[in-house]
Amino acid sequence: MGKIAIYPGSFDPITYGHIDIIKRATKVFDKVVVAVAHASGKDPLFSVEERKSFIEQVEWDSGTNIEVDDFQGLLVDYVLRKKGNVVVRGLRALSDFEYEFQMALINRKLSEEVETMFLMAGETYSYLSSRTMKEIISLRGSAAAFVPKHVEEALKKKLIK
Ligand code: ADP
Repeated sequence: MGKIAIYPGSFDPITYGHIDIIKRATKVFDKVVVAVAHASGKDPLFSVEERKSFIEQVEWDSGTNIEVDDFQGLLVDYVLRKKGNVVVRGLRALSDFEYEFQMALINRKLSEEVETMFLMAGETYSYLSSRTMKEIISLRGSAAAFVPKHVEEALKKKLIK
């Protein structure tokens, strides 16, 4: 059986940074499940269905083996349900490290079977975050270099009255 990676996140919305991580992960694993967290506590701008559909609409290279799914509850329970082997997370700057380190170790305590691996986005994308995309669009800037066209359009529709 092939190795399955689970890439969890809010993806509110997906950026070229996330896409870069997904592409890198598909080179290492046989299948990558992009798992959209309901993250209701974070008060997401887009619904789970919207966030999933933005990921599905990305022009993935043919043969890219990804599945887009969503989950609620504990990540480790979801990973075991999906028969995943590894959780993939992206690292941008040092500032991500503290939180990611804590989550990885907590998840390891919750389940010894789930390993976390970190990938680094290409430097062109490593400073991107979904939050800054929302700020740029709210301030009527262009996010064309940071998110796919359909995502930029959706951000404009939602944020510019
Ligand atoms: P979460 O709310 O779980 O942090 P995000 O959608 O913000 O969800 O991020 C999901 C994962 O992708 C996290 O591991 C985050 O560090 C990583 N990530 C987000 N943007 C980038 C980027 N530009 N480069 C590398 N990793 C990124």
